[in-house]
Amino acid sequence: MGETISETKTPRRISSFFLIIIVVTLALSIVAIFSGVNAYISGDSGTVYPSLLIGVSGLALSAYMLFQTRRRTMQIAIKMQPVTTTIRCRKCGFKNLREFQRGDYIFKEAEECPKCTEKMQIASIYREAKENE
Ligand SMILES: [Zn+2]
Repeated sequence: MGETISETKTPRRISSFFLIIIVVTLALSIVAIFSGVNAYISGDSGTVYPSLLIGVSGLALSAYMLFQTRRRTMQIAIKMQPVTTTIRCRKCGFKNLREFQRGDYIFKEAEECPKCTEKMQIASIYREAKENE
């Protein structure tokens, strides 16, 4: 239950330059594979393997880079979303929302209810899905 969420605000910086490198690498490796296949068809066995090797390793590299960037941007997207804690009074059902605070967990006792002075309890902790950022 003790989920720690770092509140560091990382600026959204999806490097378009990095994306261009991935696309270029992908395009070059496809060209290399095609030329390898062409060389194979025309019987030029000397250039088949180097071309295929470059093509396949280029594909693997771009796939790896794409995977890395996707993982990074997903982490950033999660960090950008505010976390909300819902506090509920078990006696009168009073509900209160506030920003997530370090150390919050579900069923943790919170402050007193403003209506009946009963101790309230954290009912849920969730991330708000904000699309327009
Ligand atoms: Zn209450």
